[in-house]
Amino acid sequence: MSDMLKYDVLVIGSLNADLVVRAPHFPQPGETISGEDLQIIPGGKGANQAVAAVRQGVSVAMLGRAGKDSFGPFLLNSLKSDSVDITNVHADESATGTAIIVVDSNGQNSIVLSAGANGKVTPKDIDALKVEATILLLQLEIPLETVIHAAEWGKQKGMIVILNPAPARELPDELISHLDYIIPNETELDLLTGVSITDAGSVEQAAKVLLNRSAKNVIVTLGEKGALVVSNNQVAQVDTYKVDVVDTTAAGDAFIGGFASYLVKPLESASKLSDVQQLAAALQINAVKYANACGALATTKFGAQPSLPTNEDVEKFMS
Ligand code: ADP
Repeated sequence: MSDMLKYDVLVIGSLNADLVVRAPHFPQPGETISGEDLQIIPGGKGANQAVAAVRQGVSVAMLGRAGKDSFGPFLLNSLKSDSVDITNVHADESATGTAIIVVDSNGQNSIVLSAGANGKVTPKDIDALKVEATILLLQLEIPLETVIHAAEWGKQKGMIVILNPAPARELPDELISHLDYIIPNETELDLLTGVSITDAGSVEQAAKVLLNRSAKNVIVTLGEKGALVVSNNQVAQVDTYKVDVVDTTAAGDAFIGGFASYLVKPLESASKLSDVQQLAAALQINAVKYANACGALATTKFGAQPSLPTNEDVEKFMS
């Protein structure tokens, strides 16, 4: 008997405590200003995407590292309360990852990210995993070496590997070739490809640069303009929904969690299709429509994880 645990989605990535203060404006160097009361909100792209997926009703496990300071247990308890499996989130001697966020009166963010324990997630952590999954979700808030190893490992195990290349940086072709889906926003796409993103045409052109670098499917999130799907067999723009935006934090994470959860069931019932490109084009478009609804809903509430919608929220919103 295998002692492997099976999940719909495995996330290998970051957990951060978001320390958020609203202030009238950003302080100048040397200036001290008064802000509103501090809010401590569970975040980190890895943990956000884990929660975004689990709230859509699929089973999710996470691999990562959190510190032994007070933020570590806070983040673990938060994931646990959303029923994300945290068996493989290890306690680390480093400080827990934090994002120190100032929000000004225009709703603009200014963020200092401290990787802490997220920087200590190693390829060895992955080799020790006893978890099987249909979909592997990756981001770039843990060391790149670990992300590359994770993608290769996931592909070897027959998982559908999805990378959200955030925060933005350049990537080696080796990593891109292991991915079934790469899901950047416009800024990330610009940095990844060197194509300056100015209009719809340049988005498509840049996405095709990634296809030429052996990406299989590229989905570019376009904020209020929805998303562009670019694969070898289709190019499709998928509109999002009109909403009253409160805070766009974690919209991308909601999109990715929603997209992955929508694909899980069809992928599992078509388990002999090892290549996701054989999934019907229509299914991909429907998954992106669903993901748009998740992203749009996340912008209607403040904060990262508190703003991520449930399955019921999305079904109600779409009908
Ligand atoms: P990120 O949060 O990573 O910068 P985007 O801004 O592209 O990513 O947002 C991700 C997704 O969230 C979009 O593809 C869209 O579906 C949804 N979204 C974001 N902003 C809005 C908005 N103003 N109105 C409606 N949907 C939005």
